[in-house]
Amino acid sequence: MADPAECTIKVMCRFRPLNSSEVTRGDKYIPKFQGEETVVIGGKPYMFDRVFQSSTTQEQVYNACAQKIVKDVLEGYNGTIFAYGQTSSGKTHTMEGNLHDTDAMGIIPRIVQDIFNYIYSMDENLEVFYIKKVPYVKGCTERFVCSPEEVMDTIDEGKSNRHVAVTNMNEHSSRSHSIFLINVKQENTQTEQKLSGKLYLVDLAGSEKVSKTGAEGAVLDEAKNINKSLSSLGNVISALAEGSAYIPYRDSKMTRILQDSLGGNCRTTIVICCSPSSFNEAETKSTLMFGQRAK
Ligand code: ADP
Ligand code: MG
Repeated sequence: MADPAECTIKVMCRFRPLNSSEVTRGDKYIPKFQGEETVVIGGKPYMFDRVFQSSTTQEQVYNACAQKIVKDVLEGYNGTIFAYGQTSSGKTHTMEGNLHDTDAMGIIPRIVQDIFNYIYSMDENLEVFYIKKVPYVKGCTERFVCSPEEVMDTIDEGKSNRHVAVTNMNEHSSRSHSIFLINVKQENTQTEQKLSGKLYLVDLAGSEKVSKTGAEGAVLDEAKNINKSLSSLGNVISALAEGSAYIPYRDSKMTRILQDSLGGNCRTTIVICCSPSSFNEAETKSTLMFGQRAK
């Protein structure tokens, strides 16, 4: 790794609370937490850089998962934050949460606020560009923005465009990845020194097994593609974690897109999202194993 003093891939694990239908069904709450780094499922311990219990707030998750990466991006590093897990495990809650509520905001709106606070604290002129959140298979739009509110509005706009795209494809894409890119370019007008950092924020498609989704035909093919892209991502991250000489970036579209923000000097955080319910035990174990491969 380029910076041996610091591991550049961090894997965090978050459990959401039991939801009302799980409670109604009488599901058991299965994770047992030991300290801040270990969760035990069915007697087997899984260790991460941090484990977040169901009561962890959005602010605590942000502080542990993203605050440092934002600082690094403002210093010119590239980074990526992923949320990985089965559908309904809390990925979108973690990445976006409620964009318009101070407490319920997820990682993306908090990052946007932090970057603008930094900009407002500077004397010099700073430009912030970002590319609107889109499913990676569609074209994307680049916008120039001047305030956190403008970013939130454009995220909302991106979500409704995505919804239209999904409907037009007869729900074929109810599972899709979404990638949000923040590109920060700074220029000191006196010294003409330039600094540029980019941060990919990725809400991955649900990782559940294809058989569980009951898909057929074109939908099944797409589900297989999604699972293939998730396993390619897993292969890239575990090759990076092992310090392999060969990193299989070219094996999927997504890893090609993220190539210059994964590995090397880049900061990577994966938030593994899990359901705590006994009903989802098998998927939760497979999600935890995905996270372990990155360690
Ligand atoms: P995913 O994006 O993985 O499919 P969501 O983020 O949409 O899952 O979460 C599914 C539901 O569970 C949503 O209603 C969300 O608000 C709720 N939820 C997820 N994580 C939490 C949490 N940590 N605390 C409270 N509610 C949560
Ligand atoms: Mg989601």
